[in-house]
Amino acid sequence: MKYNFNSGPGVLPKQVFEEASQAVLDFNGSGLSILEIGHRTPLFVDVLDEARAAAKTLMQLDDDHEVLFLHGGATTHFMQVPMNLLGTNGMAAYVDGGTWGTKAIKEAQLFGRVEVVGSSAQQGYTCLPKDYTVPPEASYLHLTSNNTIEGTQIHHWPQTDVPVVCDMSSDILSRELDFNRFGLIYAGAQKNMGAAGVSMVVVNKHILGKTGRAIPTIMDYRQHIANGSLLNTPPVFAVYVCLLTLRWLLQQGGIAAIAPQNEEKANLLYDTLDTLPLFTPTVAKADRSLMNVVWIMDNKMLEQEFLDLATQEGMVGIQGHRTAGGFRASLYNALPLQSVQVLVQLLTHFAQKKG
Ligand SMILES: *Cc1c(COP(=O)(O)O)cnc(C)c1O
Repeated sequence: MKYNFNSGPGVLPKQVFEEASQAVLDFNGSGLSILEIGHRTPLFVDVLDEARAAAKTLMQLDDDHEVLFLHGGATTHFMQVPMNLLGTNGMAAYVDGGTWGTKAIKEAQLFGRVEVVGSSAQQGYTCLPKDYTVPPEASYLHLTSNNTIEGTQIHHWPQTDVPVVCDMSSDILSRELDFNRFGLIYAGAQKNMGAAGVSMVVVNKHILGKTGRAIPTIMDYRQHIANGSLLNTPPVFAVYVCLLTLRWLLQQGGIAAIAPQNEEKANLLYDTLDTLPLFTPTVAKADRSLMNVVWIMDNKMLEQEFLDLATQEGMVGIQGHRTAGGFRASLYNALPLQSVQVLVQLLTHFAQKKG
């Protein structure tokens, strides 16, 4: 028995693994593997249509918002977003709340003027920037909703009239939000909605086409919209795994049903960590992520001892990010409450033994 706290690629529902395995052998009784069907055949076009529709239903999207399934990870959108949205004489506002936001800023600077309107770098990203102002002339404001590495998550959204672009890679579909308020949302699938190799983009089509820049076809969101994510061969299998995960989420009752479960899991872990002096959560309470819980111990020797014990007990992926140290447990949608209960038990026993 493994308890998978990996940060990404991360845990998916067992049902998804079973259905995906079956599709590799025989896709929907077609006598063909999902790996050998044409991407323009009805077999796959149905997959894309249903995946798009499922995302629209789950996120309650209006007709202004289009859903795309594209090659590559979230990192591609670090460049693709400014290419499509940053006017050649314009300016984009970015919030620097962690490692991924910093990378997004670096890429955007290749395409035009970037103003970093808020940063928590000085606090070691243990909290999120607040009380910043967004210049009304900005082409867009870029946010990272959940900082996967540092364990922070936006719980208070800025009020602004400029289009908000949000990297939701590690908390997409995990909590209820008014998704229609966003200009563009992007997420690599491998954290919370599928297998690696595909990213989902939700874009308000009215914000596109205003940069005055020539955009290579494969980088142009408008082209992908016009071609229904079939501009070229999409990552067929990865899109199918997304569909299976979206179906699973719908069967659970959608975001409204999974969100309280995510809260329960995170609260259980944070409450335990807050109670035990041996362990110290690193993030300011108001900014704590429900998806990635980060904590440290004062004694590095004990950290290693706890890690070894957790590994023995079947826990996977709780070692902190290579840049952050300590521990990180990722509690994505598909992680069962039982996994957190097992971890909490081990934390408590360990603290009793050492305390
Ligand atoms: C993992 C992650 C990325 C990078 O995703 P890739 O798909 O590997 O490019 C970007 N942003 C956030 C918030 C992430 O968690």
